[in-house]
Amino acid sequence: METIFVDIHTHAPKSGNHLLQIINLDLGQDCPEHGYFSYSIHPWALDSIGFQIETAMRRLEERLQSTNVIALGEAGLDKMHKTTFERQIALFEHQIALSEALHKPMILHDVRSHNEIIAMRKKHKAKQAWILHGFNGTEQDMKQLVGQGIFLSVGESLLHPEKRIYAAFPAVDLDFLFLETDMAEVGIETIYEAAVQRLGMDFSLLKEQIQSNFRHIFQ
Ligand SMILES: [Zn+2]
Repeated sequence: METIFVDIHTHAPKSGNHLLQIINLDLGQDCPEHGYFSYSIHPWALDSIGFQIETAMRRLEERLQSTNVIALGEAGLDKMHKTTFERQIALFEHQIALSEALHKPMILHDVRSHNEIIAMRKKHKAKQAWILHGFNGTEQDMKQLVGQGIFLSVGESLLHPEKRIYAAFPAVDLDFLFLETDMAEVGIETIYEAAVQRLGMDFSLLKEQIQSNFRHIFQ
């Protein structure tokens, strides 16, 4: 079987049969018939949604019913954002419950909130896979998150030697790894290329590994 490039989280999908992308959509966007998608209420949206939060939650629940919406994302916590952290936690807990009830893994947005995210996973005894996207932490952060069964997705940071993850990357646990383009203009192939170089690993082996991680979570 020919292996493909998995792009676990993107807002800028590319075309090509060699790609498997989870495309992140806004709640207002209808879900296309073909492809894989994710919907959520992003913590940044809290201010703009205001009192319509319940309407948004209902819309999200509807969106998640489609079989080609395979993940809830991106949801999570952001300590650098102005929205109060308590409101972010409440929204995150709603979405954890939804992810568990509907059996949809979550793609996580995490800014300086590793500890709280781990605490939430424990508190809710979450069974669904969680994929922390845009990961740019240290080797110790990796160990801490993977130790809780959380998958890590790395993107454009791998192209920048000054980023924390660039140094830490060779120690990554391959069974918990994904790659992504997120907002990046570069193709996922470029991110794979950078990953292969940092790992000193065979290109096709890395593709197989990530494809198998995908299958493991999404069957
Ligand atoms: Zn994103």
